[in-house]
Amino acid sequence: MRYLVLSDVHANLEALHAVLTHARIAGWDHVLVLGDIIGYGADPNAVVDEIRALSARAIVRGNHDKVGTGLEPASGFNPSARAAIAWTQHALTPEHTQWVCGLPMGPVTVDEACTICHGAPFDEDAYLEDQRDYRRAASHVTAPVCFFGHTHVPVAWHSAEGQTPLRWPGSGIDVQVLDVRRGGWLINPGSVGQPRDGDPRAAYGLFDAAARTVTLVRVPYDVQAAQEKIREARLPERLALRLALGH
Ligand code: ZN
Repeated sequence: MRYLVLSDVHANLEALHAVLTHARIAGWDHVLVLGDIIGYGADPNAVVDEIRALSARAIVRGNHDKVGTGLEPASGFNPSARAAIAWTQHALTPEHTQWVCGLPMGPVTVDEACTICHGAPFDEDAYLEDQRDYRRAASHVTAPVCFFGHTHVPVAWHSAEGQTPLRWPGSGIDVQVLDVRRGGWLINPGSVGQPRDGDPRAAYGLFDAAARTVTLVRVPYDVQAAQEKIREARLPERLALRLALGH
């Protein structure tokens, strides 16, 4: 079984198309979506259409999915995120709003091989950023691999060794393959639509549950087209600029 793992698409249609086109070369059996489908980007309806068409095997909601559909207030968001949420609430069709509203809270157990969540397995809105966070998260997971998103930074951490997390090695690298035969992994595939690790390329993951490998991938996409749509929609300029910087 091969899973395509997508996180934090954030209404960036150009990035999502580039990822799907690239991932189709290797192919997948099922899709896992780690939340934050909407928010920040200028294509919430088209992106929700695409994600729905993928008929994900498992999907969880992100904080932007909750706030963008009015499930929660945007009070904790920074000004540009809040402006994007107000725009998104207005732009998203009632039908898509209803669908996003109905997304389940994580964690969701996919099968005996993996669990998915948006922020952390103990709190869907928590950020996993350091050893303490990882150790706490690992104590809440029984599956060999737990995929998470929310930070927009690709990272892989193995609990048994208490080792430092494996981060994306740099902009010259396209693919990283991890051997996950020994369980105890927490893996963030990175963000499709708004990477924040200094590499502006879209990020995604492929999990081969039979071979027990996770492949982390970076793909260039038409950043300029996504930026132009953000500007045309009169969303905050910062949201366009950060796509080119990758943070
Ligand atoms: Zn996000």
